Amino acid sequence: MADCLFCKIISGEIPGTIVYQDDRVVASKDINPQAPMHVLVIPRRHIASLNDLRPEDDGLVGELNRRAAALAKEQGYAARGYRTVFNTGAESGQTVLHIHLHVLAGRKLSWPPG
Ligand code: AMP
Ligand code: ZN
Repeated sequence: MADCLFCKIISGEIPGTIVYQDDRVVASKDINPQAPMHVLVIPRRHIASLNDLRPEDDGLVGELNRRAAALAKEQGYAARGYRTVFNTGAESGQTVLHIHLHVLAGRKLSWPPG
């Protein structure tokens, strides 16, 4: 997608702080971190939101979650705990229309979310 920020980070057109990548998934540090660990796990393929997922994407969504868990573990948060969030749509606060799984850790996270 020509005008998608995360497609541009994935292609290298815009610099990102990449902490993991393989042929399907890229993980980048969030530019405006909301916790000591704030990483975005992003599929290389452009999918606008959870609303656009198809049954054949189930494996990819599993990979996003397992990668989030692996990154949290790698950074020492597996036991302490962490939060994973997909924002979907305007009221959730989704600002980039390319699916991304937020991984937040390193401080006590409140519930319910704001
Ligand atoms: P969301 O609001 O769920 O769509 O999340 C978008 C996230 O992308 C926000 O947490 C932003 O801080 C983050 N973000 C925006 N621009 C960049 C960028 N250039 N590199 C990394 N993260 C970004
Ligand atoms: Zn995109």
